[in-house]
Amino acid sequence: MSIKEIDKQYIAGTYDRFPIEIVSGKGSLVYDDEGNEYIDMTSGIGVTSFGIADDEWKNAAIEQINKVQHMSNLYYTQPCAELAKVLCERSGMKKVFFANSGAEANEGAIKAARKYAAEKHGEDCYTIVTLSNSFHGRTITTLSATGQQHYHEMYHPLTEGFRHTTVNDIYEFIALISKIKVAAVMIECIQGEGGVITLDYDFVKELREVTAQKDILLIVDEVQTGNGRTGKLYSYMNYDIVPDIVTTAKGLAGGLPIGAVLLGEKVKDVFGFGDHGSTFGGNPVCCSAALSVINRIDDKLLNSINEKSQYIKDELKSVNGVEDISGMGLMLGIKTVKPAKEIVKICMDNGVLCLTAKDKVRLLPALNIDTDALKKAVNVIKEACKV
Ligand SMILES: *Cc1c(COP(=O)(O)O)cnc(C)c1O
Repeated sequence: MSIKEIDKQYIAGTYDRFPIEIVSGKGSLVYDDEGNEYIDMTSGIGVTSFGIADDEWKNAAIEQINKVQHMSNLYYTQPCAELAKVLCERSGMKKVFFANSGAEANEGAIKAARKYAAEKHGEDCYTIVTLSNSFHGRTITTLSATGQQHYHEMYHPLTEGFRHTTVNDIYEFIALISKIKVAAVMIECIQGEGGVITLDYDFVKELREVTAQKDILLIVDEVQTGNGRTGKLYSYMNYDIVPDIVTTAKGLAGGLPIGAVLLGEKVKDVFGFGDHGSTFGGNPVCCSAALSVINRIDDKLLNSINEKSQYIKDELKSVNGVEDISGMGLMLGIKTVKPAKEIVKICMDNGVLCLTAKDKVRLLPALNIDTDALKKAVNVIKEACKV
C-alpha cells in the first residue's frame, strides 16, 4: 500500500489533503517523495516561523532534548521560566500560562475571563462576545466562540455564554453590552481563517476604550497573527492598544506544539493553585525552541517582513486577475477573479505551495524567506492569477 492509501484507510477523514507527500525540506524549500521541489508559502499554516529544519531553531530544541525533554509542571525548568519572562517583557503582559495549541490557549483565556468577571461582577457575568466570521479553535468551547455558523452544525449543544457581533461595527457592540452583562470580548485583529480580514484601526481603538470603561476584558487571539507574522511582534501593536489577555500558538515554537495565554495587569493573579493546568504545557523542548524564535524577532527582522510584504503587494496589485490584497506583514490574502482553489493548484503544479482562506489565496511564508525564493514564488503566483 502507498502512503496515500494507508492514510485514507487509517486516518480519520477530517483533512482534504493535497496530492503530494512531503518528505524533507530546508528553509523555504520542501521536497516531495518524487524529488520535486516546492517553495513553501504556507509555513505549515504560519507555524514554521523560520522555515523547515532551520539550524538555530533545531539547535535550541536538540540541546534541550539532550538535557531533559519533559519533567511535568511539578518541577521548575529553565526554558519555561525564561520564555515567560521574555514574552512578558516584549508584550507588556504580566504572567503566562502555557498550553499546547491555539484552541487550548483560547480555552485558558476564556477560563481566566470567566473567573475574573465572576469574582468582580458576579456569577451572572460570564458572556464573552466574539466577532462574526471569527475563528478561535475546534474544541466545543472555542467552536462556540467561533462566529461562523457552519462550524457549529452537528456539534450541539454548544457551550453557553457566547454572543457574536459584527466586525467593525462599534455601535452594535455598544448596544449589546447595554442589554447584557459581558465578561470579555475576544477578537483577532486580522481574521485569518475568516479570509484575512483586517479590522479597522478605529474599531479596535474604540473597542479598547469602551471595554476599559466598563471593566470588560479585551482578549486578542494572536494564534495566527502573533510572533512577528504581521510585521510587529503581536498584531495588536499595529493598533496602539494594550489588551488584557493575549493568546498565541502556531508560530511561537517554530514547528513544535505550544500555546500561551499572556495575562495582563488586571488578570495576572486570576489563576491560583489548581485553577488550571496542563501535562505538556510549558514543555522544555517546545519552550527552548520558542525562546530561540522570539529572540530572533527583532526590529531588523520586523522591518524586513514589512519590506517583503510591500514587495508582494506591489507585484500583485498590477496583475490583471487580482482584485484586492488584504492583510499585514507576511499574512496576506489575495482576492482573485479565478477561484482561489484553482490558483493554488496551478501554483502547486509550478512548484509553489499556497493556502486558501475563504474565497482568497492566503500567503503565510516563513518570516525569513530569502528574496530569491520569494521572487520566484511571486512570479508563479502572478502568472497563476492572470486572466
Ligand atoms: C489556528 C487558530 C486557532 C486554533 O489553533 P489550534 O492550534 O489549531 O488549536 C485559534 N485561533 C486562531 C486565530 C487560529 O488561526
